[in-house]
Amino acid sequence: MARERLYLFDTTLRDGAQTNGVDFTLADKLAIARMLDELGIDYVEGGYPGANPTDTELFSADRKLGTTFTAFGMTRRPGRSASNDPGLAALLEAKADAICFVAKSWDYHVRVALETTEEENIASIRDSVRAAKARGKEVLLDCEHFFDGYKANPEFALACAKAAYEEGARWVVLCDTNGGTLPHEVERIVGAVCKAIPGDHVGIHAHNDTEQAVANSFAAVLAGARQIQGTLNGLGERCGNANLVSIIPTLKLKPEFADRFETGISEGALRKLAQVSHALDERLNRAPNRHAPYVGESAFATKAGIHASAILKDPATYEHVAPESVGNKRKVLVSEQAGKSNVLAELERIGIKVDKNDPRVARLLEVVKERETIGYAYEAADASFELLARRTLGRVPDYFEVTQFDVNVEQRFNAKGEQVTVAMAVVKVKVGDDSLISAAEGNGPVNALDQALRKDLGKYQKFIEGLTLTDYRVRILNAGTEAVTRVLIESEDENGERWTTVGVSPNIIDASFQALMDSVIFKLVKSGAPA
Ligand SMILES: [Zn+2]
Repeated sequence: MARERLYLFDTTLRDGAQTNGVDFTLADKLAIARMLDELGIDYVEGGYPGANPTDTELFSADRKLGTTFTAFGMTRRPGRSASNDPGLAALLEAKADAICFVAKSWDYHVRVALETTEEENIASIRDSVRAAKARGKEVLLDCEHFFDGYKANPEFALACAKAAYEEGARWVVLCDTNGGTLPHEVERIVGAVCKAIPGDHVGIHAHNDTEQAVANSFAAVLAGARQIQGTLNGLGERCGNANLVSIIPTLKLKPEFADRFETGISEGALRKLAQVSHALDERLNRAPNRHAPYVGESAFATKAGIHASAILKDPATYEHVAPESVGNKRKVLVSEQAGKSNVLAELERIGIKVDKNDPRVARLLEVVKERETIGYAYEAADASFELLARRTLGRVPDYFEVTQFDVNVEQRFNAKGEQVTVAMAVVKVKVGDDSLISAAEGNGPVNALDQALRKDLGKYQKFIEGLTLTDYRVRILNAGTEAVTRVLIESEDENGERWTTVGVSPNIIDASFQALMDSVIFKLVKSGAPA
């Protein structure tokens, strides 16, 4: 049976840019658009030309993307002709393949917000779609507040949608702008719309205010809609938009959808999904959500010993899809409560071959438990666990030795008379027979120490060039009689691979230094640096 085509429309750069704290530069927008294009997204909405300088510049040149690059803007203003509306003119001039208009479809908004008549609202939709079609653009109409509008006045809401379709709009997109509509309502209303407009011209744009934007998108598809709009990582104002990173694997991997629908996403692209999701967080300078479905670090992490032993026998026992299919990996957490099976499963994953009755396995488990009692958290620090395992079971080369470090924090007045706090670190390292000294300034003591440590590692420098620290978390723990500090550091390399290391000490600098050292040594081990 031939599968139906389902289209994906990304609005990370437009609706996602409304997220509190997100401010995309032109370079960000171009990089994200390329990433979405490579992923195989059918439509990438770039922004709102004319509304701000970044978006105007974004649409000032042909960006040569394979995707249908889409500009967003309003239909002509009420009481003006299409040819005499500067906003519409800017939109028509934009170097875009498609135009997505937004229009009111709730009679209450037409009266109160737009202060015009229902007839004029529909005339504005018709004129705008016609003008864009005349310029050879593919046209979409976002029907704002469609679901609330439909509940209040179904005839008018539907008339707005139909006007666009009749004028030749490729898509009429039903927006749950306030995000409060529930899946069963979406299914009923989309079903009714698809009786008047063919489903392969109907799209869904859901917001996540009841945590159901993804469910609402699927409800719309089951009722006949064939375009889903959403954003990467569910970015968007308030509670966000429908999360394409959750929607895509469900469409690709769940037979209910995979057997019926085809998308533009290849299996190969799907395997890069976790990387795409993390790359966006990286650009936003945010720590990825560990518990994100499919792509989160914990999405395939198992803790309890009994589950771990079953997962070793057959992963399908506790996994709904294969982690590799979305570019994620299985993780068996090694913790105090864990048994030998967790340790064995984790050793197998990281590729250390060992007999399960080898006394060193019991020794490793003992060391893990001892260290967790004093504050180490190996289930959160995969790389530190791997180093500990390699040290217990085999050997980790002594690549280099830090013979001394010195960190200095100084508060003083600078030349402009402003009070500033400056951190400076000096690190002495021995690499083979060479003694190296590096100094660096930083925005804080840990940053300065990190900069100095990684400034010159002699022959190992080339292996750590692409290493960056992406997250730094500190917790004060009460272990026994005195408080200790636990530091978790997350690092990333040039291939987008991430790992976490841990350090524990009563002294925060010392704890940070342990975690930094583990990160650098882990990178050397991973890169196969010679001893
Ligand atoms: Zn929206």
